[in-house]
Amino acid sequence: MPFLNAADSLTIIGQPGDLEECRKAVELLRPLGGVTERIRYVAGGASRQDSVRCGLQSLADAPGDAVVLVHDAARPFVSVDLIERCIASAVEYGSGVAAVPVHDTIRRADENDVPVQTVDRTGLWAMQTPQAFRLDLLRRASDRAEQTGFQGTDEASLVEQLQGVRLVKGDRENIKITTSDDLRFAEQWLGGRMPEMRVGCGYDIHRLVEGRDLWLGGVKIPYDRGLDGHSDADVALHAICDALLGAAGMPDIGQLYPNTDESITGASSIGFLMDVADRLASAGWTVMNVDCTLIAERPKIGPYVSRMREKISYALKIEPARVGIKATTNEGLDDTGAGAGIACHAAACLIGCRR
Ligand code: MG
Repeated sequence: MPFLNAADSLTIIGQPGDLEECRKAVELLRPLGGVTERIRYVAGGASRQDSVRCGLQSLADAPGDAVVLVHDAARPFVSVDLIERCIASAVEYGSGVAAVPVHDTIRRADENDVPVQTVDRTGLWAMQTPQAFRLDLLRRASDRAEQTGFQGTDEASLVEQLQGVRLVKGDRENIKITTSDDLRFAEQWLGGRMPEMRVGCGYDIHRLVEGRDLWLGGVKIPYDRGLDGHSDADVALHAICDALLGAAGMPDIGQLYPNTDESITGASSIGFLMDVADRLASAGWTVMNVDCTLIAERPKIGPYVSRMREKISYALKIEPARVGIKATTNEGLDDTGAGAGIACHAAACLIGCRR
């Protein structure tokens, strides 16, 4: 739904029992970007006409010269170009209704499905959505239909009770998914463009030595020793970088920022994480979440977890709720348990489209 951000607001109208599912679907899309914050969820009526009327009532505060587009959720392949042309027509003429000329031969059949007449298709158009109108025009049309008991099959037919509407040439790809055949066609059409989800894992460990600052999760933690390494040796950020890079099938942190590179001696690892975020974004990946578990006997990590989440979420441009940080000890076992070093395991989930 990349066009949603262009809208001042979006009203999703559905049957009351379906609205929670709608809400969940929108939240799933939100990390992909471009989803407006101004979304209303409105319980619809028994027919499309009733549902659109419910939606119009939710826009009671909107000015009459605003443009409203009615779109059928069963047409998921609508293009930004078609939306823009419908809006432009509504701004200029009061209406802009997507439709395509009928190319198929149309026959009228009797009650036994026997063709009795070929219909002249000259001037016949199959209506689509979006159907765009000046808000005051659609309001008047809806009120008029309510008063007269007129039942139309789309918004254009309501407005035509008041005045003519302008057709905007629609797209053949703007199909309406009604039957299981339509769904199969849609899946084939989408083909390689289906978003996919990837997961990755990362691990890092560094020794604790004297004379170094201790950096974990992008936060400097007061302690009598620090982690040894070429950069700031932040194991949490290194493990998270590797989880992200692994999910995207990219070279790991050791290859991207080798310890033979003098330009990164003592570098802050938050810079690595920001660079990884840029690489992922350039390749079309969106970070859904990262999670990590620090393994440290000392110091206590708990007081610093919320600052680590802020740092990491800022670097990755995701909400702190999408960053998990946990800490545990190694129960005194092995060198990590003896306090000789700190280790970190991380996992990451990406969503994106194949390129
Ligand atoms: Mg490392």
